[in-house]
Amino acid sequence: MADQSNRGTVKVVDGKYKFKGNFHYINPNTPIRNEEGNLMGVTNPRDITHVHMYGGEAPFFESLAQAKLLGTRCENPDCEHTGMTHVPFKIHCPDCLSKNTIVDITELAKTTATVHTFMVTERTGAFNTLEKPIRFINIEFAGVDTILMSYLPIGEPEIEMRVVPIFQTKNPTYTILDLAWVPEETSESKLPEGFTYN
Ligand SMILES: [Zn+2]
Repeated sequence: MADQSNRGTVKVVDGKYKFKGNFHYINPNTPIRNEEGNLMGVTNPRDITHVHMYGGEAPFFESLAQAKLLGTRCENPDCEHTGMTHVPFKIHCPDCLSKNTIVDITELAKTTATVHTFMVTERTGAFNTLEKPIRFINIEFAGVDTILMSYLPIGEPEIEMRVVPIFQTKNPTYTILDLAWVPEETSESKLPEGFTYN
């Protein structure tokens, strides 16, 4: 394993992205052999730090760490779908392409979120860090025109079940994994490590 003490970090200073440290580590190849010891190929280890820029979606990820859920709404009076509210967060209205207004839907989520449908899976993507089985849920909110994909770390999902949002406010990842859902009236002491209601 390469020395990772100088792993890459990025800062923005005066509007410019400043990269510091290593973003790519070279690891040795290892041979792949068959039962007779003949060389069949090599493993090609890669260790790369990817950089994801959030752009106009940054307020959404920042707010999760502050126990807030944001959506967006089209407020263009000339749009055929003015008033349409989007969660997940859409920067622009897909109908009129004007910039949407950010709306705080935390209270709406706490009081109206229900499971639209769900999927329980034991097999996940290679880098998935969630505990298995993962209970993926699709969530509906009153007055919101889209359905949000998330997960239920506690309890068994059922269609139309009332759920409430929880947020990873302690050591947040600043990714969508900072948001999860639990059945209504789950006691705060049962929440996963680092998650809170508020
Ligand atoms: Zn619109």
